[in-house]
Amino acid sequence: MSQQIPITIARGDGIGPEIMEATLRILDAAGAPLRYEEIKVGKEMFEAGYTSGLAPDAWDVIRRNKVFLKAPITTPQGGGYKSLNVTIRKSLSLYANVRPSKSYAPFVTSQHPTMDLVIVRENEEDLYAGIEHQQTNEVAQVLKLITRPGTERIVRYAFEYARAYGRETVTCMTKDNIMKHTDGLFHKVFDEIAAEYPDIESDHYIIDIGAARVAEQPERFDVICTLNLYGDILSDIASQIAGSVGLAGSANIGDEVAMFEAIHGSAPDIAGRKIANPSGLLVAATQMLVHLGLGDVAERIENAWLCALESGIHTADIYREGLSEREVGTFGFTDAVIANLGNEPRKLRRVKYRKGAITVPKPRRTTSTKVLEGIDVFLDWDEGDRHPDVLGKALESAAAGTTLKLKMITNRGVKVYPDGLPETFWSDHWRCRFVPVAPETKLTFDDVLALLAAIHGAGLDVIKTEHLYTFDGVRGYSLGQGE
Ligand code: NAD
Repeated sequence: MSQQIPITIARGDGIGPEIMEATLRILDAAGAPLRYEEIKVGKEMFEAGYTSGLAPDAWDVIRRNKVFLKAPITTPQGGGYKSLNVTIRKSLSLYANVRPSKSYAPFVTSQHPTMDLVIVRENEEDLYAGIEHQQTNEVAQVLKLITRPGTERIVRYAFEYARAYGRETVTCMTKDNIMKHTDGLFHKVFDEIAAEYPDIESDHYIIDIGAARVAEQPERFDVICTLNLYGDILSDIASQIAGSVGLAGSANIGDEVAMFEAIHGSAPDIAGRKIANPSGLLVAATQMLVHLGLGDVAERIENAWLCALESGIHTADIYREGLSEREVGTFGFTDAVIANLGNEPRKLRRVKYRKGAITVPKPRRTTSTKVLEGIDVFLDWDEGDRHPDVLGKALESAAAGTTLKLKMITNRGVKVYPDGLPETFWSDHWRCRFVPVAPETKLTFDDVLALLAAIHGAGLDVIKTEHLYTFDGVRGYSLGQGE
């Protein structure tokens, strides 16, 4: 008998305990070599005063066992409660959100009967770092952060995932035609890593046309790897059009810990009636088995589950007169899956998974030579009719005598000085770009400080600065529109 792998489970709220019981019965019947350690999460914990929905000692269990199978929980209405998922994802650095969207037509109605795609979404970076500031009366800003190691990790995960699940193509989606430095970095790292996986095909779409194609022809896609915000939106579109939200599972993967769950909620309207469909959590459990390197057990369970679906033994949520054979409750369906262990589906496509855990090496650290070429000084300026020529002249005279000179001013990214167009809208937020008076000058931070003192001395309101660097001679900042 092989050694048992300890995992953490939480039975959750509403239908959670019923579907977890069903899932564990199937895992046991399939001979999954697992040992379960249970923690309490959800409503009971929220009501006991833990705003995260998790008892403090549960953290140790989750971290010790590393793999967590979680049933849905009920988030109480009203203030003070935090999303348990967001807390776990952020605290344990679960960097990859993996959401397969598959249709099971004709057994579950779908407009896209052959759709079978997986979205691998970066989960920690991008606009979700939550670094926002109001800078002037009129302007608020959010920082979009994309890191090379963060991108390397998610892209490598997507390719390793493709190998483990026998998939053929990984598609990257970005908006690097506009965001050349952030999305551009993601695309560049994607291309570098794709070259290390010659057995897997790769391509790239701009996110807008990519999302439109997913909505129209989802069957064209296999694995999609993308940034946090695009992945968030895209995975909801994909789940919706697959028509099988109730059967979908999802995974949140970190270097140490991984969490697996159904994408539906705790369904309080049917809780305790033993009629819930356990499929979402069961599919999540098969993802967990592949993650653990138990692809053979995952395969046995998923193929048995597909057999149960195509034999027409359906829970109420997917039961259709004329298509289904028999309506069953949670455990009637569980028994049907167990009875099919060892069988292979004849109408739905059987699954085949690789044995061996998915592992992603730690990202490399990179170095480069960084050279300061200039500085963007941001001002809050709201004088007169806000004409940029007035500000331009004031800055030119303030900077006279320093080592830097004004190159241009932009407003909302568009060049307004020198030679702006009168049609351009002017907010109270100005980006003023300064470069060395003598191009051969080696700029230092002291030059920048002297410039800032001069601008401040002229009575102008400096609200932030951004340094203009090159890295190994490559420009690391964008040009102004019209520059
Ligand atoms: P829900 O997904 O729980 O229910 C939506 C509808 O789908 C309901 O009619 C429900 O009966 C049905 N349904 C859901 N799962 C089903 C299943 N397995 N079998 C049969 N029918 C099923 O969404 P909701 O009603 O908006 O949310 C209920 C609670 O769940 C809320 O407290 C919400 O915050 C929470 N929630 C938790 C998670 C999670 O823990 N990951 C995710 C989403 C929602």
